[in-house]
Amino acid sequence: MTPTAVIAIHGGAGTILRSALNAEAEAQYHAALSGILEAGQSILASGGSALDAVTEAVRLLEDCPLFNAGHGAVFTAAGTHELDASVMDGATLEAGAVCCVTRVKNPVLAARRVLEKSEHVLFTGAGAEAFAAAQGLEFVDPLYFHTETRHRQWLNARGMQGTMLDHDAASMEAKAEGPNEPIDPDKKFGTVGAVALDAHGHVAAATSTGGITNKQPGRVGDAPLIGAGCYANDATCAVSTTGTGEMFMRMLAAYDVSARMEYRGATLEQAATEVVMERLPRIEGRGGLIAVDAKGNVTLPFNTEGMYRGFARVGEAPVTAIYG
Ligand code: ASP
Repeated sequence: MTPTAVIAIHGGAGTILRSALNAEAEAQYHAALSGILEAGQSILASGGSALDAVTEAVRLLEDCPLFNAGHGAVFTAAGTHELDASVMDGATLEAGAVCCVTRVKNPVLAARRVLEKSEHVLFTGAGAEAFAAAQGLEFVDPLYFHTETRHRQWLNARGMQGTMLDHDAASMEAKAEGPNEPIDPDKKFGTVGAVALDAHGHVAAATSTGGITNKQPGRVGDAPLIGAGCYANDATCAVSTTGTGEMFMRMLAAYDVSARMEYRGATLEQAATEVVMERLPRIEGRGGLIAVDAKGNVTLPFNTEGMYRGFARVGEAPVTAIYG
């Protein structure tokens, strides 16, 4: 019997603010996560592929300013935005990724085109943009990625508040005070991702990020690296990660979940828990991941205080959560 199709998504992990109990802000996050899960769920419900469902879910997460990917991406040390994304199809083990793009509106769509239209797996910077342009993808002015909240975070990260004109700083603070984010935005690792199992028994994963606030230009994390921030194999599982990218790269976190299932016969739950709760903390890796397997199991472990996350099985209401 084919298991029920299911999609899971994440929108970053991190530390919970004390002022976190702002019900309005929490409701915004839950509503955004639910809406995006429903969009993925409806693709799966009509027999669509896991690959299409994760691509669309991540595209919507990129468009939502609440999350650090696409519109709403964090700033580099140079005050710019450099975006990374990846996608992998568990049925074929085909993958596509882009990194350090600055003008492609939806990096996940560029990653998807790399998967489908190129013999290569990963394109970077100008080459990635040339490829995306040749594929007819939408380009935006880099200002499109700018949001006030991320700008304030960047200024905080640089410790530049003191050099700002008083009324500029005050108005920025006032705006920033808007609805509080349940997870401390300065300590949150932002990345978005989706994993899914479709009605045909195939799994897929996609991950997209602006990276980490105040990163050095040219720095690339785990998100666009197949095996680190994204992995999918029908024989095991599909995984998308979020957290301190350097540690996820050094641990090949996404692939490690799959390898534990394949070589050791671990269940999805065991494999994911070992990676997030035992392996990553050994090198101070912080964050979490979402994963599904071909049997329809879903797991969303994290070793931080919270992770924006949710899953939805076809025919059932989406489940969303923020805290542990
Ligand atoms: N893992 C991402 C990176 O290192 C950041 C994150 O998930 O917050 O670029």
